[in-house]
Amino acid sequence: MSKRILILGAGFGGLAAATELRKSLGSDHRVIVVDRKKSFMMGLVKLWILEGSRVLEESQTPLDGLNAKGIEYLNDEVTKIETAQNRVQAKDHGWIEYDYLIVALGAELVPGRIAGFAGRGYNLYDAQEIPKLRDSLLELKRGKVAIAIMGMPYKCPPAPYEASLIIDSILTRQGTRSSIEIDIYAPAPIALPVAGPQISSNVVDMISQRSIRFHPLHKIKSVTDDKLEFENGTKADYDVLAGIPPHRAPEVVSSAGLAEGDWVAIDRKTMKTRFKNVFAIGDVTEIKVGILALPKAGMFAEEQAKVAARHIIDEISGRTTIATFAGQGYCFMEVGNKRASYLEGDFFNPAGPSLRLEAPSEQNFQKKQDFERTRVKEWLL
Ligand SMILES: Cc1cc2nc3c(=O)[nH]c(=O)nc-3n(C[C@H](O)[C@H](O)[C@H](O)COP(=O)(O)OP(=O)(O)OC[C@H]3O[C@@H](n4cnc5c(N)ncnc54)[C@H](O)[C@@H]3O)c2cc1C
Repeated sequence: MSKRILILGAGFGGLAAATELRKSLGSDHRVIVVDRKKSFMMGLVKLWILEGSRVLEESQTPLDGLNAKGIEYLNDEVTKIETAQNRVQAKDHGWIEYDYLIVALGAELVPGRIAGFAGRGYNLYDAQEIPKLRDSLLELKRGKVAIAIMGMPYKCPPAPYEASLIIDSILTRQGTRSSIEIDIYAPAPIALPVAGPQISSNVVDMISQRSIRFHPLHKIKSVTDDKLEFENGTKADYDVLAGIPPHRAPEVVSSAGLAEGDWVAIDRKTMKTRFKNVFAIGDVTEIKVGILALPKAGMFAEEQAKVAARHIIDEISGRTTIATFAGQGYCFMEVGNKRASYLEGDFFNPAGPSLRLEAPSEQNFQKKQDFERTRVKEWLL
């Protein structure tokens, strides 16, 4: 019997899930993807826009490319999820029923939670704001650049450190670096808590060598015209502020009762939620790793997408599923000047997360470019 698989969100996870399902299911089964956006751009491209090697307008791939691949794409806002009725409401398309649901709606950024941030700082994770941030950096002749991680967890934990190194290389090229200080403020006691003290210390060494200062235990409270105020009672001056706003699960997910606490809890091996035939993947979920959580990263969203898709495919085909999410992944940590380190981790290691960081190289940067190119091609072109 024909089945209808509905995927909410055409980001990293949603696109990977749709592709996997379409590859393996016959055309009698429908794969439908809903997203409010008309195009896709991988999160890591934001750093290339900051660096100046990409422009926003040329980095977005239209989502209607999905239709040519036999995946039905609906450009719409998801407004309600009713798991008891097996249906989802979209603003223009009304109620859509499903046999299987994959929730891949990502994390929502909430800059409004930080008093005074709007209008004074740039959201480092907002593609529209990065060109303006870049212009401000190019115009700055002397002063202070502050990068503030405003809440935990946030997506791609190394990204603020990558951004600091890219900003260092931009200012060096501009000839202004010696007159500009760069500071990173973070709420956590170490740079990358889930990666552990050793990798955190390697990252701090890496940025310190480029005269970038790291301030742990500095959770921002508010922003004024020239000062950052922290919950620990201290203040700092800034001229240009790049912030990573607090994250939360999208409202439509929380109001559906899918989120337990801040995020959607799932079985860490199967991506199943506690609701029948409902899977959740990627940034909208939380998988506990000891007292911390699996990092929010596209790489994990993709792997989880494949596992969820495989469970659905096998169930429809009457096979037993052995697909399991292993909690292993990697990323390329950029250091500026078209070089990147390679970071890989095994987060479900019984003895605790084990990670390895390689020295930066041009080859790793090229692999990062391939990482983006091959996926966009497979998913949308
Ligand atoms: C600067 C930066 C650098 C990064 N670098 C890396 C990296 O090098 N490697 C890596 O693995 N990850 C990286 N990431 C993280 C990665 O981008 C995310 O973890 C990944 O996108 C998560 O995928 P997702 O499918 O869960 O969510 P998303 O990709 O965010 O997709 C969610 C989708 O849901 C849609 N949506 C949300 N709510 C609604 C609604 N109500 N109605 C309709 N549509 C809705 C959104 O429009 C969006 O398209 C980076 C992120 C940033 C910001």
